[in-house]
Amino acid sequence: MSDHTVLVGQIEHETNTFSSLPTDLDQFADASLHYGDAIPPEFRGSNTAIGGFLRVADEEDWDVVPTVAADATPGGIVTADALSTLLDEVLTGIEESDPDAVLLALHGAMVSEDHPDGDGYILERVREATGDVPVMASLDLHANISERMVDHADGLFGYDTYPHVDIGDAGETAARAMAATLNGDLDPQVVVERAPLLPPLPPLQTAIEPMDSLLQQAAASESKFRPDVSVFGGFAYADVEEAGFSVVGVTDESVADETRATCAALAESAYERRHEFDHDYTSVEDAVAEAADWDADAEGGPLLLADLADNPGGGSAEDGTVVLEALLDAGVEDAALALIVDPAAVDAAVEAGVGNTVAVELGGHVEDNGDPLPVEGRVRLISDGSYRNYGPMSRGLQVNLGRTAVLEIDGIDVVVGSHRQQPYDPEAFRSQGITPERQRVLVLKSTVHYRAAFEPMVGAVREVEAPGLCHPDLSRFDYEHVPRPLYPLDEDA
Ligand SMILES: [Zn+2]
Repeated sequence: MSDHTVLVGQIEHETNTFSSLPTDLDQFADASLHYGDAIPPEFRGSNTAIGGFLRVADEEDWDVVPTVAADATPGGIVTADALSTLLDEVLTGIEESDPDAVLLALHGAMVSEDHPDGDGYILERVREATGDVPVMASLDLHANISERMVDHADGLFGYDTYPHVDIGDAGETAARAMAATLNGDLDPQVVVERAPLLPPLPPLQTAIEPMDSLLQQAAASESKFRPDVSVFGGFAYADVEEAGFSVVGVTDESVADETRATCAALAESAYERRHEFDHDYTSVEDAVAEAADWDADAEGGPLLLADLADNPGGGSAEDGTVVLEALLDAGVEDAALALIVDPAAVDAAVEAGVGNTVAVELGGHVEDNGDPLPVEGRVRLISDGSYRNYGPMSRGLQVNLGRTAVLEIDGIDVVVGSHRQQPYDPEAFRSQGITPERQRVLVLKSTVHYRAAFEPMVGAVREVEAPGLCHPDLSRFDYEHVPRPLYPLDEDA
């Protein structure tokens, strides 16, 4: 028998408050939603936070109480009902099991109808229910850290990579700090320091400056008594008071002051280097002109066009048509696009049947992402749209596009799905009978995550600036709540 009972739960959502699509319980069910004893077999061995928790739990021989594992594709505000239903699973588990510790996988940028600081609310309620036992959480690098989150957690552990290829490691780090706490080797305390910065997504990539060296400095400052220092870029599309860049340390109480000084120095350095977060993009016109002439054999692989603003992984509608329309107008062929979400077009393709031609008004139905595109396509494949990630990011995680059709439209294979899902893993193509490395041109609705698995197989990447709710020009958005001044919305902060 283990000495320790550890309750585990996941309630994750990155909320784009500019989205018109509410996030209800169905959105969690469409993406990833598991309960109780179904959780360990689903996540054990996967590169996910719960996978990391379980790795340590198995080593430490903890009695694990799995409650809920819920992660919806980023989108609009989470309904009050969805949050209370998911949180009740955790709170009921606490009441029934009286755990010695709680490990949560959170995002850190959840906004619900009732709680603009959804993650702070979750941690506060869990703290109320558990009383004195340690509560720790893994968080996304795009978390907006609130004082409430810091007040009600004994540890907050961010991913150190974007693309997020170390989600499992963040879970493992959290669980190891928990093990040290339960064994009496750590008296944990959380400190936070902020910078008046709110970069859009592309410059937060961790392979480039300034994030590369900021993260290296954070890692170099970690030690036995300072188990984790995380750099959080914030999430610019959640218009909330807590939005912004921060550095969080999880530390032993004995070295809390030194850790705070380290975090403050990193936050200050990030702000001093704010102009390094400025970033260049490719226009749709230039991208399509290059695609028209692209010689994949000579260039060592396909030209990858990242339709970065229409990324559902940041809450966009994933039904934008601007890039596709421009490629079709230019007569670009031997291309594949993942994905456009349009359940009605999928229904029409199913009705037409594989091998037949169908006429649809494709995409452009939800946000201001381009108009519905009248197209005729040959139905190449119909499937349930499910696959398991095989690339470095969230490897092993089950993904669900809903009922899916592949339409061949004038030499472009377009994956048309029913659920919004970021196609960062090549299985998004392979599961649909498309070999991505053999295309001349690839189009992906993804801002940064595609790089982890696709960069090695393509000849070049272009970050294409088309409309969408993850547009990198933040001056296009009507902010009401973020704390001003804030760079780059304001030059001087
Ligand atoms: Zn993220």
